[in-house]
Formats: sequence, structure tokens, C-alpha cells
Amino acid sequence: MIVTKYIFFMEVVMGTVSCRNCNGSGRFYDRKSGKTFDCRACGGSGINRNLWSTNCERCRKEIVYKANTDRPRYCKECRNIELSKTCAQMGCNKTILYKIGWNNVSDYCGACRNKRDKGFKASICQGAFCNNLVWSPPGKSFSFCFECNEKKKKADAAKWKEKPCAGGCGNTIKYNTDWDHPPNFCKTCKERRLKRGHEPNQSENPRFHAACGERGAKLSLQEKSRFSNFFHGIPDRQKMKFEEIVKLAEEWKNNNGGGFRRSDKS
Ligand SMILES: [Zn+2]
Ligand SMILES: [Zn+2]
Ligand SMILES: [Zn+2]
Ligand SMILES: [Zn+2]
Ligand SMILES: [Zn+2]
Repeated sequence: MIVTKYIFFMEVVMGTVSCRNCNGSGRFYDRKSGKTFDCRACGGSGINRNLWSTNCERCRKEIVYKANTDRPRYCKECRNIELSKTCAQMGCNKTILYKIGWNNVSDYCGACRNKRDKGFKASICQGAFCNNLVWSPPGKSFSFCFECNEKKKKADAAKWKEKPCAGGCGNTIKYNTDWDHPPNFCKTCKERRLKRGHEPNQSENPRFHAACGERGAKLSLQEKSRFSNFFHGIPDRQKMKFEEIVKLAEEWKNNNGGGFRRSDKS
């Protein structure tokens, strides 16, 4: 097919396609009669009116196509060349695969396009060392990506601890390690203590018991009950710290242990 004529339209080259029958000449020469006739197929024009010609925008190869149809931009080979680009959404690194011949290839990957169409707003995760993309639906504003959110939830859950109620009721107290003053008593014990009125020092008794026990002076039950009598006669005992009570209990044991043992027998 020979391009016989070029029509310049913008930068696109449009061409006509020559008639195959007469090779574009429009005529046939008859040797016998020595006459020439018009080609019947093209009516003597030498042009195939059913076909148009153009050039591939990439390789410039001629493309012949049906007249009065949309001009193809690429030849068959070029049309199927695969290309890729990165999603235009900030924070999204997805690759978009497409072919040269495709029209209207979106700059956004399917997931991002879907969110944008629904009016979601994009931001970057505020988690440490995290640059993940975060989508917030209309009217909301999320700061963390799913992974960082899960991490945060776990860390928050780990801050919740349990301990037994200091009232000796067997109840468990749930508290958060972020609290400056975690409670020592359960709700029931707290209410009971409030009804009874405050003791001079709420934590005096548990502190005394602890100071006599395994963590402290390791007094026997009998020693403890006698030391208790002694201890509860001290006017400033409410202000004594755990270590001070332990020290006092040890001194008491060292100085009076023998004598008290004797009195036990009576
Ligand atoms: Zn012809
Ligand atoms: Zn091409
Ligand atoms: Zn994307
Ligand atoms: Zn994150
Ligand atoms: Zn309790």
C-alpha cells in the first residue's frame, strides 16, 4: 500500500490508500487494442475509498484502517506494549500496569480511586517511623494506619494491670499504669471504709502486716501479735514508712525476743 497523498491535520498524518487493482494508477493498458481503460475498482481515481491510512504515533509504521472510523493511534505491536507508573496519590506506592493503546488510564490505583470517589481524605500515618497512607472518611480524621492503630491498642491494653484489694476481701482491682494514684481498695471496701469513717492512716495496717512478714522482719505469729501491741502504742506510727517499721520490728525482736518468749509460757 502506497501512501499517495498526505493531509496534515494538527500533527496527525492522514493518508489515502491506493487502489490495489490498478496499483494506484487508476488505469489499465490493454496491449491487444493498445487502449487504456479506467480501473473499475477505483473509478479511475487510483484511491481505495474504503480505507484510510495513518502512522503509528510510536513507531511511525503505516496503519491502514476502515474509512470513516476513529483513527487508531498505535499499530498492533505498539498497542500491546505494557507500561507502568506509580499511583499519583501521595503515600501510595502501588504500580499501575497498562498498555500503550489504552485510553484514559487513571493516574491513581484502583484502591485510591475508590477512596477518592467516596470523598475520603488522605494523610500520612503519624506512627513513629511509619509513612503509611491513611484514609479518613468524610467527617472523620484518622491519625494512624491500621497497623499502628493495632500496635497502639495492644500497648494501651498492656497498661491495664490487676492487683488484689488491700482490704483483704479477695476482690481484684483493675488499674492503669498511667494513673498517678491507682486505688488500693475495691469499690465495696472503699464504701465500707467511708461509712466507718477514715482510719488515721488508711495504709497503716497493711504496711504493718507487710513489715512483720516475709518481706520485712519475718516475725512469728506470736511475735507479731506482741509487737502489734507495742507498735500500736507509738503515737507517730501512722507516719512511719515500711522500712522504718521493719527496722523497728527487727530492733524490737533483737532487744526483747528472749524476755517475751518467757512470758509466752505463762
Ligand atoms: Zn484502481
Ligand atoms: Zn507502532
Ligand atoms: Zn494508590
Ligand atoms: Zn502507621
Ligand atoms: Zn475489697
